[in-house]
This record gives sequence, C-alpha cells and structure tokens, in this order.
Amino acid sequence: MLLSKSFIPILRNNPSEAKIKSHQLMLRVGMIKQASAGIYSWLPLGFKVMKKIEDIVRQEQNKIGAQEILMPTIQSSEIWKESGRYEDYGEEMLRIKDRQNREMLYGPTNEEQVTEIFRSSLKSYKSLPQLLYHIQWKFRDEIRPRFGIMRGREFYMKDAYSFDVSDEEAFYSYNKFFLSYLRTFKRLSLTAIPMAADTGPIGGNLSHEFIILADTGESKIFTDKRIFDLNSNDTELEKKSLQQMRKKYEQYYSVTDEKFKKEEFEKVVSEENRLITKGIEVGHIFYFGDKYSKAMGASVDLPGGKKDFVKMGSYGIGVSRLVGAIIEAKYDDKNEIMKWPLSVAPYDIALLPMINKNDTSALDKAININKELIKNNIDSLIDDTEENFSSKLKKMNLIGAPYQIIIGKKSDGDLLEFKEIGKETQNLSLTKIIETIKKQKNSN
Ligand code: ATP
Ligand code: MG
Repeated sequence: MLLSKSFIPILRNNPSEAKIKSHQLMLRVGMIKQASAGIYSWLPLGFKVMKKIEDIVRQEQNKIGAQEILMPTIQSSEIWKESGRYEDYGEEMLRIKDRQNREMLYGPTNEEQVTEIFRSSLKSYKSLPQLLYHIQWKFRDEIRPRFGIMRGREFYMKDAYSFDVSDEEAFYSYNKFFLSYLRTFKRLSLTAIPMAADTGPIGGNLSHEFIILADTGESKIFTDKRIFDLNSNDTELEKKSLQQMRKKYEQYYSVTDEKFKKEEFEKVVSEENRLITKGIEVGHIFYFGDKYSKAMGASVDLPGGKKDFVKMGSYGIGVSRLVGAIIEAKYDDKNEIMKWPLSVAPYDIALLPMINKNDTSALDKAININKELIKNNIDSLIDDTEENFSSKLKKMNLIGAPYQIIIGKKSDGDLLEFKEIGKETQNLSLTKIIETIKKQKNSN
C-alpha cells in the first residue's frame, strides 16, 4: 500500500483532548474518529488492528470448542423483564421505542438473549455442554465515557456463554475459558493477570477479571508479584489439567479494589512480594449458576426423568478496548515509537525509499521489493512521498509496523538496510528479511 493513497490522516502533534497515550496515538495517526461522546468511527489503520485482534480471539474460542453465533444489537425489553434486569440496569441501558411503541434496547450484554435462544431450542442434558459466543457491538451509556475507545459508550465485545448440567461440569467449562483467555492475551503479546474475585454472598459464584498492568488503568489491583512469573504454556483441555492450571494461578493472592481485604493481603503475602498498582480490565469471566436459567425457565431433561435448570457462565473480552490496551503496553511515548506485536500490526513492514524529483529509483526498488513481500503474504506500507528521511521515519514510528526497510543511497547490491522498529539497522538480503518475518509470524 502506498502511503500517499492510504487513508491515514496523521496529525503533527498530539491532540490536546487526549489524556492517555493510547487515546493520543489513536487520534494522532487517525485510527479512530470521534462521532459523538464515547462513540467512534474506526478508520483503516485502527480497523485493521481491531480485526486482527478479533481473529485471534475467535481462533482461541474455537479451539476450546465454543461455537460462534451472532445475536442482534437491538433486543426486546420482554426478556429483560423476565430476568428482572430491565429495571435494575438503570441509566446505562439505552432504551428505544419502535414505531409500534414497543420497548426495545441496544444490548449492553446478552445473557437474556442467549438464554432465550437456548431454552427454545435445546431440551435434553444430552446436548450439553454448549459453549456459544458472538462478537458484537454493545452499548452502555457510561456516565463518564473517556480515554477514547477504552471506556466508550459503544464498544466491541466478544461474549461467550456456557450451559451445563451440573456445577462440576460448569466449572469445567469455566476453566476452558480461563485457559483460552490466557492463550488469547499471550498471542496479543500482553501479560494479563487473572484476578480472582470473591465467591460473594450467593455462594459457589466464581469470577476472574483479566487485567494488564498500566498506570492509566482504571482498576486498582493488589497482588502477589510472583504471579507475573507464571508463564502458561498449557494447551491440555482435560478436566484435571485445567483444574491444575487454574490452581497454579490461584495460589497467589491477586484481587481488584472491591475484593481487597487489607488483613488478608498482609497475612498471605510477604512484604517483599506485595504489589499494589493499577491495570486495565481486558476480560471478565463469571459463573452464575441458574441465575438466568431459573428466572427465564431454561431447563433440560435429566437422565432419571427429572428436569433441572441449566448452569450458566458468561465470558467477556473487550475487543475494541484491547486496541487501546496494547498501545498502553507497547507505546514508547517519550520517543514516539509504537511497536505493534506482529500478530495484530496494521502493516508487517514499512518501506522508506528516499525519493526526490530527479531520482525515483529508490521508489522503483521499493515497489519491486513489495512484489516479493506480497508473494510471501507480508503486508507493507510504502512511504512514496518526497518528504525528508527524518519526517518519514517519524511517521512510520508512529504507525508502528514492527519492521522497516530503508532504501537510500547506501542500499546498493543485494543487502538492504533493515531494522526492527526502534532498534539498530542491520544489512540483510531480502530473502533473509522475508525469512525473519515469516518465522516470527509462524511462532504466533
Ligand atoms: P468496567 O469495569 O471496565 O466498566 P465491566 O466490568 O463493566 O467493565 P464487563 O461487563 O465485564 O465490563 O464486560 C466485559 C469486557 O468488556 C470488559 O472486561 C472490558 O474489557 C470490556 N468493556 C466493558 N465496558 C467497556 C466500555 N465502556 N468500553 C470499552 N470496553 C468495555
Ligand atoms: Mg467486568
């Protein structure tokens, strides 16, 4: 893709309305454009990143046997009245009336909708477990939308729902999602820590928030720092190994604000291991038993002829928030260098030919290089403008393709000036460059 023809409206300076680095960068390189408070259009650069994140999320859902569906954004108030949440949800819910004067709403989440789908379709324990998910826009009329897409009113979420015959089976489903979340965030090159939530008054309830560390995060967290040394390579989907995997994390104290108890923290975590800091919630998994199935009458026939309400859990990932979260984790705002993980980068590589009016040979060379890259499925952005080198580099450093090739006077023969963004230049052949990038791609 040629930079001159791409829709990447870059600003010279940071927009003053943005308070945190992800919001600044996203506006600066034109990843998003605000439509109204907490509501954004996604422009090509931002949209590409979000779609790549979505793909990884999807692949990891499919790996645990979850099945993708798509529920609508607009829901009927009827099902929410059945669950009792129509009143409870309050002002965060965007309520709409259709022309027949029917009460509708823009879905903030889908427990009711999915329970309604389940109850009218499946009747036997033999169909269980069922793991269903969709990736769909949500609307919550947040009292203070801020930080760009981090706390938007309209946002893109993956939400999954599990249906099981017993608590034990439901915990098994829960653990599958736990594993899938660890794997998803790892592929996004993020360290997301599962923070156990209290079992709460309803007993048997189980919940984890997945949090990445960031000073600008809105969640305050209290942890045993040894949890950061855990590096899960688990892939096993067996009941027992999943249980062990979760235990490995749960052996270390880690909670968010609401669950924090000072005495307990100080009792179970030695002083040198205590860490009190801030983070961004990128995922949340929750087991709630028959809360919705009972209220909405979603039951199955059991082997002995009896019936029972299905046991359910729900599992969210903030897909659009993750775009910002990755920037918070990876952007070096001091040097103005963004390095996207290759797995979600808007472009794999940037080509910077040094061009002036009399000599376009560097651009021709870039275009030839690009032909080879395309053959190898490597997506590049070519700066075909006549700007000077330092401003070209500055722009590409903000756009954040993880690799760069500089095509200038020095690049004679077969060796090219290649670098990983923000690092030293190496002289490599195109074959070697392609090999390096492909190897990196395959490792994800
Ligand atoms: P928060 O505590 O940040 O308000 P939540 O607990 O209300 O989030 P959940 O209902 O658990 O959110 O939603 C699942 C995921 O959706 C969250 O973990 C988060 O990543 C994302 N999310 C929630 N609210 C927003 C929002 N307003 N803007 C962007 N992403 C959001
Ligand atoms: Mg949450």
